[in-house]
Amino acid sequence: MIAMRSTEGFLASQEDPRVFYEPGAENSAHVISSALPSSIERVEEAQYGVFVIPVKVYICATVKSYARFTGQEKSGGDTTVAKKIFISPKPENTSQRLPFVLTHELSHLHLGQRLNLYQFTGRPTWFTEGLAVFVSGGGGAESVSEAEAARSILAGQHLDPNDSHTVFSHDTASHFDLQPHMFYRQAAMFIAYLKEKNPDGFRLFISDVEKGKLFKTAVEDSFRTDLNSIWHGFVNSLSKDQKK
Ligand SMILES: [Zn+2]
Repeated sequence: MIAMRSTEGFLASQEDPRVFYEPGAENSAHVISSALPSSIERVEEAQYGVFVIPVKVYICATVKSYARFTGQEKSGGDTTVAKKIFISPKPENTSQRLPFVLTHELSHLHLGQRLNLYQFTGRPTWFTEGLAVFVSGGGGAESVSEAEAARSILAGQHLDPNDSHTVFSHDTASHFDLQPHMFYRQAAMFIAYLKEKNPDGFRLFISDVEKGKLFKTAVEDSFRTDLNSIWHGFVNSLSKDQKK
């Protein structure tokens, strides 16, 4: 199984023992080591708790190697079911972008750290990706602005949070006929709305999902309503913004 491949060819960073890299990825290892403490802090604050498993970040020197460990070569980073973060050396991952990719992946790791394989992969992609983009301040949705995403939603081109497609389906952005960054940006804006509307409910919601509560039950217990109603409120708030 891909996720169980041995990572013993990676070297431990002298700067941070939680960071490992393949020869050739020294620069990225330096950037990731410098960013790691503040990225961890940000995720622990935004997702209401400390990491309960050791954080391990692996930086690949080639896209081929990245694909060997993650099973795909397009993304900038990936958090595997073995609870290891892999960082791709693809050209889009500049020194400037890497800390955002790191925080995005740490959000996934935090969300899944206590969960088994079934629970880890069983939550809707709009939720896990939206949260990761939201917590990282835009990591993974850089090419689409909030204004563009709002226009798309109001024009009827948007995700549907009631759709139960999960990471098991291959490409949820294309399922909704959206570009990946558009899908991620819309999801992040919906997550921000959930938090803004009901901060206490949001905190309970994240904690429940992290404990492995069934997603639908966590929504109902935390927000006392269903996703459909919340989504309608969200779209209304966008149309009000546009009229301002
Ligand atoms: Zn992600």
